[in-house]
Amino acid sequence: MKYDAWFRDSDSGTGRWELDEIVYRSPSGGLLEVAHDLNALKGRSPAAWMQLWDSRYKRTMWPFGSGVWGKKELVLPNIPDSDIVSLDEGATNLFWAERFGRELGIPDLWVKQCGVSHTGSFKDLGMTVLVSQVNHIIKSGKQKIMGVACASTGDTSAALAAYCAAAGITSVVLLPRGKISPAQLIQPIANNSLTLALDTDFDGCMDLVQQLTEDKKLYLANSMNSLRVEGQKTVGIEICQQFDWEIPDWIFIPGGNLGNVSALYKGFEELKDLGIITRIPRIVCCQAEAANPLYRAYKTGWKEFHAITAAETQASAIRIGNPVSRSKAIKALMKYDGRVEQASEQELADASARADRTGLFNCPHTGVALASMIKYIERGEVKKGERVVVVSTAHGLKFGNVKADYHMGKLPGIVSTYANPPVELKADRQSVYDAVMRHMDKTVG
Ligand SMILES: *Cc1c(COP(=O)(O)O)cnc(C)c1O
Repeated sequence: MKYDAWFRDSDSGTGRWELDEIVYRSPSGGLLEVAHDLNALKGRSPAAWMQLWDSRYKRTMWPFGSGVWGKKELVLPNIPDSDIVSLDEGATNLFWAERFGRELGIPDLWVKQCGVSHTGSFKDLGMTVLVSQVNHIIKSGKQKIMGVACASTGDTSAALAAYCAAAGITSVVLLPRGKISPAQLIQPIANNSLTLALDTDFDGCMDLVQQLTEDKKLYLANSMNSLRVEGQKTVGIEICQQFDWEIPDWIFIPGGNLGNVSALYKGFEELKDLGIITRIPRIVCCQAEAANPLYRAYKTGWKEFHAITAAETQASAIRIGNPVSRSKAIKALMKYDGRVEQASEQELADASARADRTGLFNCPHTGVALASMIKYIERGEVKKGERVVVVSTAHGLKFGNVKADYHMGKLPGIVSTYANPPVELKADRQSVYDAVMRHMDKTVG
């Protein structure tokens, strides 16, 4: 075994548990993280790593064409390829938001389309790692696992259900009833997951799933399980790779349970440790005002953190008041002078709709990041020549209901400034012609 990886306590950086063990927290109650033998990894030069990763990127040699497994040495170095459960995730397109960027005065604006993936969100990146490791444990007979369970705001459950179905592993998902989109709800149902719709919110589901997985017969798939972070961290690595290993100046990323922002930092940190990059980009974690415990903590200068009860938001996948990965996120944000911003329901809806007009098709969470970015531009913090990346976390199609409500003027309390509702007409030549001409008069100067 040339490379090595294990769990350790994420607060102290100490302790060692094997990846085959079923363990989510250290004895002190802190979260774990996956540690890698960096000295072994440094045995390969930065140039050699870049060349290896570029040679695999989007190619056909399974599973290395996956954005996650192309970086296998830095993810799960010792899992046999035959145990990997991959749906060819990652390696998503980096959309040059040229028109939107020009409109905002920052022509170097890019949107990392993590939602263009098998189940329509970035959750696939972490889930391929977690389900692969579970598959490996089951196949090796080292532990008895009956199935895998998660609490979800909709996207984690979709990813878990799909990867488990592909591997033939039983999955159980706990969802807050009526608080996820119809498209998200149908995904675990279709993939034959036991789908439990509970009369509580996400935080309530998260409490229950931790109790349910206590006796270790069911494996816990939430992002407090640090295996997920190993897959998700490849987003930052991939963004660098897509810029020919250059680092952007700013990254705006929506945050709920805060696993993803922690993952983004971990990827950059490891690239820096390997000598592939020399600095960490400025990261802004973006929250919906309705679910903003991290933003509130940031505003106290990180002196205090209080869990809140998250209120209703269009950005339902980040409706979380008691984020599990907050300690990891806060540690990284403090270390690298990261920022936190928030967006109101009006701001996120408008930002999303404005960007859509330039060819994107954003989910409300991406709307939160876009609205936060607009505030940074308006305040002069993001400057014209700087390169900005917005991490889009899900596909807009998963939130078609919310998007349609905006355009039909049906979102309570929201003014649909950028609405473009369908025009209902008699099916005759003159009516259609007149409607087209009226439109042309308005839009073509
Ligand atoms: C899960 C999710 C997030 C938040 O990620 P965290 O790791 O919980 O902070 C953001 N957007 C979408 C669409 C998600 O599904």
